[in-house]
Amino acid sequence: MAGCVFCQIVSGEREAEKVYEDKSTLAFYDIKPVAPIHVLVIPKIHLASILEIKDKDLAYELFNALQKTVRVLNLEDRGFRVITNTGKDGNQTVFHLHFHILGGKSLTGF
Ligand code: AMP
Ligand code: ZN
Repeated sequence: MAGCVFCQIVSGEREAEKVYEDKSTLAFYDIKPVAPIHVLVIPKIHLASILEIKDKDLAYELFNALQKTVRVLNLEDRGFRVITNTGKDGNQTVFHLHFHILGGKSLTGF
């Protein structure tokens, strides 16, 4: 999708530090980390948010990518958080579906 930052990362037009990639998903480090480890997992196709996931295979592939990325980051044993901000109240700023993986410290608050 023209003008979408994450579509530009998928196409290679914009650089990102990749952590995991397969045919339908990509994981890369967030440019403004809010935890010692902060990685985003996205579908390669443009979907605005979690509300647009309709395809069963893609739903599976996203969860699979989350698990694989967590393993690459070595977060399995110590734990982590997965967050997907959605819409106005969710304070979503990039309208290409993404899951934040946060870890590397004990996360407090909600
Ligand atoms: P959200 O507020 O949930 O929509 O999160 C968007 C996230 O994307 C923020 O944490 C940004 O720091 C991150 N972000 C925006 N542009 C880039 C980029 N070019 N590379 C990596 N992360 C980005
Ligand atoms: Zn996009």
